[in-house]
Amino acid sequence: MRPNAWFQCIRGCPERHPLSAILYRCPRCDALLEVAHDLAALRELADPAGWRARIAGRRGGAWPLQSGVWSAHELVQPHVAEEHIVSLGEGNSALLPAARHAASIGLGELYVKQCGTSHTGSFKDLGMTVLVSSVQQMIADGAPIRAVVCASTGDTSAALAAYGAAAGIPVIVLLPAGKISAAQLLQPLAHGALVCSLATDFDGCMRVVQRLSEDPTLYLANSMNSLRVEGQKTIAVEILQQLGWELPEWVLVPGGNLGNVSAIAKGFVELRALGLIDRLPRLVCCQAHRANPLYRAFARARAAGHPLREEDYQAVVAGPTQASAIRIGAPVSLPKAIRALHECDGLVEEASEEELADAAARGDRHGLFCCPHTGVALACLEKLIARGVILRDERVVVISTAHGLKFSEFKAAYHEGRAEFASHHQNRPVMLGAEPEAVVGAIHRLLDEAAT
Ligand SMILES: *Cc1c(COP(=O)(O)O)cnc(C)c1O
Ligand SMILES: [Zn+2]
Repeated sequence: MRPNAWFQCIRGCPERHPLSAILYRCPRCDALLEVAHDLAALRELADPAGWRARIAGRRGGAWPLQSGVWSAHELVQPHVAEEHIVSLGEGNSALLPAARHAASIGLGELYVKQCGTSHTGSFKDLGMTVLVSSVQQMIADGAPIRAVVCASTGDTSAALAAYGAAAGIPVIVLLPAGKISAAQLLQPLAHGALVCSLATDFDGCMRVVQRLSEDPTLYLANSMNSLRVEGQKTIAVEILQQLGWELPEWVLVPGGNLGNVSAIAKGFVELRALGLIDRLPRLVCCQAHRANPLYRAFARARAAGHPLREEDYQAVVAGPTQASAIRIGAPVSLPKAIRALHECDGLVEEASEEELADAAARGDRHGLFCCPHTGVALACLEKLIARGVILRDERVVVISTAHGLKFSEFKAAYHEGRAEFASHHQNRPVMLGAEPEAVVGAIHRLLDEAAT
């Protein structure tokens, strides 16, 4: 028997809606929906040791259940039949022990979860495989879906375009003109998506996409669609597997629309409900100072001495930040993120443009290759260590959300000294002639200089 799962209102309205329904919000109260699982049935299906063995056994096994997402098939989307799964080999990303970086910031144990080492170069693949597979299942069941559509800060559209192309489903993407990287614009173009560059910011694109999604033939792929969270929550499963099911004390996540921080918390909470872990790690949502509505709400609640509530939040107009994928002033998943922070005894921290760029550059010097969002998380980590919130002997996981190569303009500006602040770890090419003896001489002089 397949375990059941359904859409449910996060504010607790009693109705259960089938996952095959084209539905993004609660029909009764308009709140966000989430996927709820029949945990009793899942517990019956296997005991904790059985679940660990089942998931581990599929990894490295046959396509498509070898995927990091689909190896947890029953926990993710039990109603999607294996033949409708659209996988591009997502997940199974490294949990890198960043020993030199850890030592440089005085931390004993630091791991970087390399979610950007993925088909389209960001963690968005994890959610998109679930969403597009579910659409395949819906189409197979007769749903009149003509295309899937999303607004994006660049990585969601890249992932949707790739998975849509793999499935043969038309894709429409709405992008804020001039506010995403060149690689991010090229990805949906290359995959044949209909790319609409709108003269607005991400929050403006979101308003347009909400109107488009009133048309039931255009299926909405934004993270307001709670199917994506189901794929992204497997980040928690992978981290635990890679740590031998021993919990880290802290998990730091860059946050924009706040779907991922909610997803990772949901993963840990469900694993606890299944008995695979007995407590939860603490979560830190890391925001860029110029796009920090959750940080502001958190600071407001702390100053007032009460737990973070939705009433502490006010949307902001997000300013230009190098961390362009989290340039969001009105995060859609805010209520879920607040709940995630309560469940996981969480914190919110922020990083300035200079802090995030320098932290990313320091990571690069230690063998990482950080996108600016990962730079935000690394900068927040340093600040929390300095304040004594994260202790030096605690085990920390930083979620790296994208591949640094998608953000070459960010790195070029930093190393060419074109940033709006001093680049403390700038590195420039040395111009030399082609005379071999002169090059050898110059290299030794430069090595001597570097050593002094
Ligand atoms: C989407 C994205 C984020 C933010 O994730 P949310 O779920 O929107 O909070 C962070 N970093 C990168 C690289 C992203 O693409
Ligand atoms: Zn409701």
